[in-house]
Amino acid sequence: MTPSDRLVAARESAVARVAVLRAELAAIIDSASSTTGDDEHDPEGATIAFERAQAAALLDAAEASRRELDAAFGRVSRGTYGVCVDCGASIGDERLEARPTAVRCVACAGSVRR
Ligand SMILES: [Zn+2]
Repeated sequence: MTPSDRLVAARESAVARVAVLRAELAAIIDSASSTTGDDEHDPEGATIAFERAQAAALLDAAEASRRELDAAFGRVSRGTYGVCVDCGASIGDERLEARPTAVRCVACAGSVRR
């Protein structure tokens, strides 16, 4: 598998994940709005709010990884994919296999505190 094959595969699954999570979130919002108004002290309200927050967080994460993959495609087209943004060394195939969106080599990633 070439690095761009991996990116294509990873992006496809990220896009699919975003779609699934969006549908999930919409279903939660739908079910919440259909019960709202019946009883505002509905004990299910808290559960729905929790599920909704959880689904929203998962969706955010999936969208963030899709954006990272888009950025990785940008680096491929500029010819900077697999090159560490900090030291300019090669990130290494093994690391890119595990993390196709990595922008730093292992050494630089280890020294970054975020
Ligand atoms: Zn580096």
